[in-house]
Amino acid sequence: MNILKTSGDTDGQNTHIVVVGGGAGGLELVIKLSRKTKRNNNIRVTLIDSNPTHIWKPLLHEIATGSLNSNHDETSYLMLARKHRFSFVLGTVDHVDAVRKTLHIESIYDKTDESGELLVDARHFEFTHLVLAVGSLCNDFGTKGVEEHCLLLDSRSQAERFHQRFINQLHRIHANADTSTQLSVAIVGAGATGVELAADIHNVAKRLPEYGFNEFSSDRLRVVIVEAGARILAQLPERISSSVTTELEKIGVDIRLNTMVSAVDEKGVVTESSERIDAELVVWAAGIKAPAFIAESNLPCDGIGRVEVDTKLRVVGSEVIFAIGDCCACPMSDGSIVPPRAQSAHQMASIAYKNVLASINGSRLKEFKYKDFGSLISLSQFSTVGNLMGGVMRGSLFIEGWLARLFYLSLYRMHQSSVHGFGAMLLIMIGDTIYKATRANIKLH
Ligand SMILES: Cc1cc2nc3c(=O)[nH]c(=O)nc-3n(C[C@H](O)[C@H](O)[C@H](O)COP(=O)(O)OP(=O)(O)OC[C@H]3O[C@@H](n4cnc5c(N)ncnc54)[C@H](O)[C@@H]3O)c2cc1C
Repeated sequence: MNILKTSGDTDGQNTHIVVVGGGAGGLELVIKLSRKTKRNNNIRVTLIDSNPTHIWKPLLHEIATGSLNSNHDETSYLMLARKHRFSFVLGTVDHVDAVRKTLHIESIYDKTDESGELLVDARHFEFTHLVLAVGSLCNDFGTKGVEEHCLLLDSRSQAERFHQRFINQLHRIHANADTSTQLSVAIVGAGATGVELAADIHNVAKRLPEYGFNEFSSDRLRVVIVEAGARILAQLPERISSSVTTELEKIGVDIRLNTMVSAVDEKGVVTESSERIDAELVVWAAGIKAPAFIAESNLPCDGIGRVEVDTKLRVVGSEVIFAIGDCCACPMSDGSIVPPRAQSAHQMASIAYKNVLASINGSRLKEFKYKDFGSLISLSQFSTVGNLMGGVMRGSLFIEGWLARLFYLSLYRMHQSSVHGFGAMLLIMIGDTIYKATRANIKLH
């Protein structure tokens, strides 16, 4: 095991800021820090991520259905590191030693063939300032069979696994002229992920005849959303929930409310009242938890493993470790926790940027105050529904249709603008338009 010496080196690079996780919040933070410190030889910035490329997590359900091509929408961390002059390390962090100020990174094995050859040995990595931005994972609440039988949407590889299984099922139906052969998809959890996925599956199915899947019609597809609560999108205002319910029912999605799943097996899900819902594909999208290494590192955590931070985004009990995004439990003035959303991660990245530099300079840290700008739910090509808040508006403005769609699409463009710059984002937009006009709009392989 080798130790990368990074702090207190003789080459004058005394401060080493390490950001773990280059997702919605972490990547924006690394780029801001690198832009600010690139002429300062005393500060080094390193990003560590388990994956070599970045994909904006809210796009994962579109990658799962094939509405988006992951190869087209990914951004290489090494390319960004070269452009913005930060260091990128590929690896999965599995331990933080807050006292010694070191991280442990797992060994990397070659996954391209059976041999599984060891490529990079496990390492320790030193930091002077650390930001955890590792996001969240699906929480199965210990439900029997989820690990073995469910598909998840936590990462690109999981979205691609769903995609492959989905495409295989489409081929099965296409090859079978017997119209009683159906594809059933059960989605457990009616949060934004479950709801958006259900609509996108229907959108792809509707367009299949354009691609020669003539035997496929919407009556051969059954999508069921199974939700333990009394309404879908329980975290969002009731008006959005009821409007989305109406749209989903119009599309043909079957919504089962007040239905708790007690087990999942190879045939589908079993509910608490012992009802079976048969499905070829079961997606678990109910609830979140933080990666386990945070609690295993003895950092202070809440009940779902999120690291507790103060309102300056510092991990409770530490002056130099910060956390942002889904992986942290940050209190708001009413005692609740900042919701796990891309807009929270984005806002936290801006304050963490200022506070990490303030803690290096010994100046005053800023308070993080979450501003809810509203929520938008995309039902693929069928509709977009949501509310806008903040700015000049007092209260909440309900929007739907093309205006809501425009705001929804602008969220991703704003993220791209933070990462690549405004001009580059415009060029990417033009590139995307050309790409869509010249390639298939659905990835069917
Ligand atoms: C399908 C789907 C749709 C969504 N839609 C919306 C939406 O419309 N609007 C919205 O506001 N939010 C949405 N969300 C939620 C949103 O994606 C998250 O809140 C947001 O991405 C959190 O940002 P983050 O920076 O905390 O983590 P992430 O964006 O998840 O990034 C975490 C990064 O950490 C890396 N990582 C994880 N563990 C390790 C480790 N141990 N070592 C090294 N690297 C690690 C990962 O590879 C990843 O790059 C959606 C989520 C999903 C799954």
